[in-house]
Amino acid sequence: MRGVVYRGVDDLRLETMPVPKIGADELLVRVAVCGVCPTDLKKIHYGTVLPPRVFGHETAGTVALVGKKAQKFRVGDRVALHHHVPCLDCHFCRHKAFAQCAGYRRTGITAGFEPAGGGYAEYVRVMSFVLPGVVKIPPRNSFLEGAMQEPVNTVLKAVRRLAVLPGDVALVVGQGPIGLMFTRLLHLRGIKVIATDLMAERLKLARQWGASHALRADDEKLADKIRKAARNIDAAVIAVPSNAAVTQAMELVRGSGQVLFFAHTRSGDTMAVDFSTVCVEEKDLIGSYSSDYTLQREVARLVFSRQIDMEKLITHRFPLEKTTDAVALASQPTAESLKIVVDQTISP
Ligand SMILES: [Zn+2]
Ligand SMILES: [Zn+2]
Repeated sequence: MRGVVYRGVDDLRLETMPVPKIGADELLVRVAVCGVCPTDLKKIHYGTVLPPRVFGHETAGTVALVGKKAQKFRVGDRVALHHHVPCLDCHFCRHKAFAQCAGYRRTGITAGFEPAGGGYAEYVRVMSFVLPGVVKIPPRNSFLEGAMQEPVNTVLKAVRRLAVLPGDVALVVGQGPIGLMFTRLLHLRGIKVIATDLMAERLKLARQWGASHALRADDEKLADKIRKAARNIDAAVIAVPSNAAVTQAMELVRGSGQVLFFAHTRSGDTMAVDFSTVCVEEKDLIGSYSSDYTLQREVARLVFSRQIDMEKLITHRFPLEKTTDAVALASQPTAESLKIVVDQTISP
């Protein structure tokens, strides 16, 4: 089969490799669609993990082989995959901190080499410990919608970390694919959303997806305009790796408000914090990372019912041979580009 192998920093190569062999309690899935995720881009550009690997973890496809002990599935089932599934039993899982669970951190899907998702290859092996994360795609829904389960899950998990109630106000900084998902999911929960971004096209979509105000992030009077849009901000989501945005959000949120980090994934990135804002004003700095297995059903309902219409977010589809182009565009987004996927159902 063909697979796009990470061979070193910024070095992805389309190679021929063996179709993975599966065990009795595993599945082989023919990949149809795989989303390009910022966390993989960082690994590719900064070389934070050792090569060789096949990345791609927002994967949907068709079951091609079923191990003898994986009889819940049938050849031909259209499925969405989750590459991480928590053990549900350890200290972290009991505290619902699934991303810290040692079992969760193990990647259970591979096209070959050290497991890294494998979605940029024709077939993936789905190991037994991630089978509970396999979601069947309803007949009326697309592989694209299947592939969006994982990213939507990560955003819903973060939204549920916010202590906001219907009628509250949230500032969502950055309206890339992630920021737009926040805007939509917060809006669906009855939260008033103020969205900011540098690109007009993204602000337009933010408005369509429910933002009551969509403001240019580079506006000199941004803080004034935000205060005019809402007297109090109850929560701020930082969906871009900007430290200036964090400082501004810390000032803008009301006492007892929350500032949620979603894009600050580079270790060593620091900034000064006035501790009295945390101690006296009771503002919380919180983060959220990766998905929550227990939200899978809710995510499937939201995506497959199109309450969050993820196909609208997908602006570019690349065939497997052009995975490097998909990665390049996702790394340097344009005014037109939002979510980018590698789609093996289209011809090159
Ligand atoms: Zn992802
Ligand atoms: Zn656990």
